[in-house]
Amino acid sequence: MAVDIHKLSRPERLLWGHGVRKPEHIDLEAIASARGAYVVYRKLDGCAARLVAAGDRAVISVAMDDNLGRRRFSLGHELAHWMQDAQRTSFKCSSTDIGPQNAEAKSIEADANNFASQLILPDYLVWPWVADRKPSLDLAKAMGGEFQASLTASALKLLHRAKVPTAITCHDQRRLKWSRRSRDFSTDLYILNELHQDTIAFEMAFGSAKGLGRPARESASRWISGPGTYRMEVWSQSIALPEGLVLSMLTIA
Ligand SMILES: [Zn+2]
Repeated sequence: MAVDIHKLSRPERLLWGHGVRKPEHIDLEAIASARGAYVVYRKLDGCAARLVAAGDRAVISVAMDDNLGRRRFSLGHELAHWMQDAQRTSFKCSSTDIGPQNAEAKSIEADANNFASQLILPDYLVWPWVADRKPSLDLAKAMGGEFQASLTASALKLLHRAKVPTAITCHDQRRLKWSRRSRDFSTDLYILNELHQDTIAFEMAFGSAKGLGRPARESASRWISGPGTYRMEVWSQSIALPEGLVLSMLTIA
């Protein structure tokens, strides 16, 4: 594998230094241990993960009830605090602090999310794996399986190199919880706050459809508003997530 080490981000260099050449080599607990951090999975009250540091040792606790993708992301997030922010000796991070969708704001938490995203889905392994396949939730699901990442983290990763305007949205029954868009997705377009009742995403939010839906070509006005949307179409694909959430990928057709 030919990689220019000088072009790697800090978390990627860390993985590279630990001999990571394939997705299945990414062993975050081994990396934590090599850095003096002991990882425990246990019941946590009111947070998803925490870090307690003393000198050059630390204990990272991760909520045992979260699924594998979430636990790995939480561990990556706390590792970031340990390696970058250890002037503070303790962190208690909620599930809203930790998450791949919160990686853009400028804060210690966003930086830690960025770091975790690169640890779990490092560019130097992800992009050769994706090759020239088009972004879809099917591809995100396959990526999640290969890299043991959450579907949300995988879908957001695909957004970085989408070649056509693409957005990821997360809704519950009542409203849009968050959305992210590819760079070329026009800022004149607004993602609708409520799910349209004729979408599969709506059925998922209200529990009458489950799992991963098929991509559907539909009127853009079901999803977005803005100049010209009444004569535009989008490809949409949705998946039901835990806790009544629905994740969708929208591509302007
Ligand atoms: Zn944090």
